[in-house]
Amino acid sequence: MKFYSTNNKNLQVSFKDVLLSGMPIDKGLYMPQYIPDLSNVLDGNTNLSFQEIGYLIASKFIGNELSKNDLEEVVENSITFDAPNKHLYDSIFCLELFHGPTLAFKDFGARFMARCMEKFISLNNKNINILVATSGDTGSAVANGFYNVEGINVIILFPKGKVSDIQEKQLTTLDKNIYALEIEGSFDDCQKLVKKAFSDSSLNTVLNISSANSINLGRLIPQSFYYIHSFLQLENKKKKNIFCVPSGNFGNITAGLLAKKMGLPINHFIASTNLNDVVPNFFKNNKYIPQPSISTISNAMDVGNPSNMNRIMDIYQTLDNLRKDMQSWSFNEKETKQCILEIFNHYDCLLDPHTAIGLLGINKYLENNSDAINGVFLGTAHPAKFIDVLEPIINQKINLPKTLLEVMDKNKKSKVLKNNYEEFYDYLINTFQ
Ligand SMILES: *Cc1c(COP(=O)(O)O)cnc(C)c1O
Repeated sequence: MKFYSTNNKNLQVSFKDVLLSGMPIDKGLYMPQYIPDLSNVLDGNTNLSFQEIGYLIASKFIGNELSKNDLEEVVENSITFDAPNKHLYDSIFCLELFHGPTLAFKDFGARFMARCMEKFISLNNKNINILVATSGDTGSAVANGFYNVEGINVIILFPKGKVSDIQEKQLTTLDKNIYALEIEGSFDDCQKLVKKAFSDSSLNTVLNISSANSINLGRLIPQSFYYIHSFLQLENKKKKNIFCVPSGNFGNITAGLLAKKMGLPINHFIASTNLNDVVPNFFKNNKYIPQPSISTISNAMDVGNPSNMNRIMDIYQTLDNLRKDMQSWSFNEKETKQCILEIFNHYDCLLDPHTAIGLLGINKYLENNSDAINGVFLGTAHPAKFIDVLEPIINQKINLPKTLLEVMDKNKKSKVLKNNYEEFYDYLINTFQ
């Protein structure tokens, strides 16, 4: 399989180049030249395990660029935790994607991408240094994904004093090949330092540096595995299957749409957003107008110009085509908090703010449709990651799960740097050359 850029259909790039470069030079997004047809295996009569699904899908995209053994190892080492359909009521299920090391669905993408890079790098014998600027969550998934991966150093820049205590611990306690830098500045300052390093040719001639940003196609491929796994777990597959995805940068839902194009019988997708309603407005007004992002309690979805919409439009070409498979609604803070409280009171189940927006999408669908459905909403994060937001809503203390308690007990190891490129440059050269 070869890959093209959404800005240049004639480009033909290998999976390895897609993975290691992250983004084409023309600033488009990489897409596969075709979507493999797996309808004969995805019709619901198969009994594939989560890892078998992973291997099957990955092999269609990565082909012979990695040996069967290597690819099996990548899948085995990245899909190490389950994604269960948790039954809530009637035929409504939460697809829980937060049982990985950083308790959010981004673990799937980050771990798979990291293990793939490890294989390609070992074929090449060249170490790489990955630079990541983070405001919190993405950084910890990436750091964890690459933890202990041979041949790769990860250098994480985060704004000093501006991430939550849990996030700071998740970023600074891994050690080994993970280096945490606290920058005396904002998230934007961190991002500027990273961008400057990428474009600094004198640095790039002495150090092999790379990125692991969220638009890397290597992160989307593994995200299609759990849609299939979830569908295969449904008891009555003959009902209409409606999946609702709490969306920010629209990567997760893109992976779901890819799975549908591979032949997975999901009838319809709902992209639920918070107040950042650029895509719902696109569906309403037929116009795509990016906006500055608005801060909400579901902050991982605070995106004003979702980059993966380019991928979705590349698959569907027109909005009318897209409407056949997907719709999009926005929900406000009050609706989100109400949903969290109601579900907590009635079902003794605590949803994180992002996941609650997923359930709101299913509820809205049910208001307008009377068909019998399986309604699956994606549980994108564990509630314990958002205790600051949730405790006042339910008016109760929340216990941290074991994974987080262990992290809170570990010793922080990080280096404080001024928001100054020369200092950052010297640090990189002295540490990694
Ligand atoms: C990143 C994230 C999202 C949004 O996913 P996209 O792929 O960007 O649409 C939703 N919920 C949580 C908890 C996240 O971390």
